[in-house]
Amino acid sequence: MPTYEYRCRKCQKDFVEVMSMAEHDQAKIQCPACKSGEVAQQYSVFYAKTSKKS
Ligand SMILES: [Zn+2]
Repeated sequence: MPTYEYRCRKCQKDFVEVMSMAEHDQAKIQCPACKSGEVAQQYSVFYAKTSKKS
């Protein structure tokens, strides 16, 4: 699943949402801290982080 990074424009908090592409299309993202809908997606990091366990 892709991870989507966002930054809240109100409180400047960074947060990450993990959801499918279809969910992302319809999702209304809210800041988890202040519940603002004014969030900006950070497109720099778009891929799911794959953690390899050794
Ligand atoms: Zn916020």
